[in-house]
Amino acid sequence: MIPVALVMLLTSVPPVAGYIDGQPIRPCLRSGMCCLKATCAVGVGHGADPEGRCKFLRGDSAGSYSCGLVDDGTVSKDTIHAGAGCCSPLGNTARDNVLKILQNNARG
Ligand code: SF4
Repeated sequence: MIPVALVMLLTSVPPVAGYIDGQPIRPCLRSGMCCLKATCAVGVGHGADPEGRCKFLRGDSAGSYSCGLVDDGTVSKDTIHAGAGCCSPLGNTARDNVLKILQNNARG
């Protein structure tokens, strides 16, 4: 198995995505949590099955996932709310693992 650190697209922990009621919104760490479980309305609108891994999802490990529709310029990142923060950080062990790797990398 390829170590996650070798295939991650992220090289550092992104800044917080914003604040809600003064509380920081955690950034997306490309864990794949959302798009591996179901397809968003944008993906369905472009022909993907609503259930299971979205056919537009690219990448094969936590930290490497990206939206092919955005990558190819079919839709803007704002269309899928990329950069708006993570809506599933609790219990997301894949995201936790990416965060640990990025934090360890930052420590050197
Ligand atoms: S890969 Fe893109 S189109 Fe598919 S569910 Fe994720 S954000 Fe939506």
